[in-house]
Amino acid sequence: MIGESTPRGQPLNNPVDFSSAFWFDTQESLAATHQLKFERVRYGRDSGVGQNHLEKSLEQWHPGFRVLTFRSGMSALQTVLHWAWSSSNHHFVQSEVYRKTAGLIDDLTELSGRQSFEINLWHAPVTASEAPLPGSTSLVILEVPSNPHLRIPDWPMLFRHCTSKPFVVVDATLSGLANLSEELVNQADAIVYSLTKYIGGHNDLIGGAIFVRPDRYKELWEIRSRLGNIIGPMEAFLASRSMKTFDLRWERQCEVADEVFEKLSKLLDGGSLASLNFPGAGTNSDQHSLAQRSLLRRGAVMSFTVGSDRKSLAQRMSDLKTVKMAPSFGSTDSLIEICSLMSQPDATDEQLEKSGIEPTLIRLSIGIEDPDLIFSDIRGLVE
Ligand SMILES: *Cc1c(COP(=O)(O)O)cnc(C)c1O
Repeated sequence: MIGESTPRGQPLNNPVDFSSAFWFDTQESLAATHQLKFERVRYGRDSGVGQNHLEKSLEQWHPGFRVLTFRSGMSALQTVLHWAWSSSNHHFVQSEVYRKTAGLIDDLTELSGRQSFEINLWHAPVTASEAPLPGSTSLVILEVPSNPHLRIPDWPMLFRHCTSKPFVVVDATLSGLANLSEELVNQADAIVYSLTKYIGGHNDLIGGAIFVRPDRYKELWEIRSRLGNIIGPMEAFLASRSMKTFDLRWERQCEVADEVFEKLSKLLDGGSLASLNFPGAGTNSDQHSLAQRSLLRRGAVMSFTVGSDRKSLAQRMSDLKTVKMAPSFGSTDSLIEICSLMSQPDATDEQLEKSGIEPTLIRLSIGIEDPDLIFSDIRGLVE
């Protein structure tokens, strides 16, 4: 046994533990662990050593919440909606949510026979018929900021119309981590993140997390155990490893993004871009104060449209040198995609306009590279 014969210190990294079951030397201690199942590790579908470690480290980012981790961001969303859907009479979903989330909500609507309402939280004031009814239990699903237009749902307006407190789920994946304002966090009952994006940050893991108020933690823990969708030990290890550099990556990505955004703003002014979306800035300047009220920083994802047609734009994408064509966002590598080609490759321009996605809308996620190299790629694409 190397470990016993070679003197060594403590490991700098938590060892990865793949055990699906943990053994005990007396029946009493196994039974006692059943009573203390929320704290102790006993069976791999319920909890694990690495998963607990990751959850504890994530909990430091949003004081006042407990964390549960999942196999993917979608799995986290599925779990929180599975849980909150049936205890609410009315379901309100902001317009423009992640495409798969919209699909999940359609499935739940059909299965439950309970209608869900899409609310346009961009411009129009919420009308009386749209707002949650007095005395009813309602579920509100928000995504801050929205993808791919980086809009902020007008939550202060929505909550002004609510006469009773709705159950509020915020998918904050696109905002970074703990980048929502305190005021918005205080409105949330559950905050969901995909660990796959900014938090993992290296395009090497799929995972999700729910931050939930402590009084609802055990309920949600039981549902995760029933659905069997806890994150795996390897992914939990990779996510914990990623947390060590989160601050550094986030700081650099936001800085580079601000610099690239300033340069792209000049292209917008000069007419090479038809629109430029960033939270509360560029084409989203109408939301400047709402963005400041909702987010601490603007993040590292932006989107823009160009005047040319989709086909010639797609051809020019092969000339990129630094930025890589790929789905996803939030990683150390800058990634770019033509939104309509990823989500609806066969749609006509008219169909796309109707669905709210401009044919030449491009989403750009900024990594940690040299901002000048990133910008020169984009200038080559749009000029
Ligand atoms: C990517 C994403 C998800 C899904 O996350 P996965 O880890 O890919 O399952 C959910 N919501 C938003 C806003 C996302 O960007």
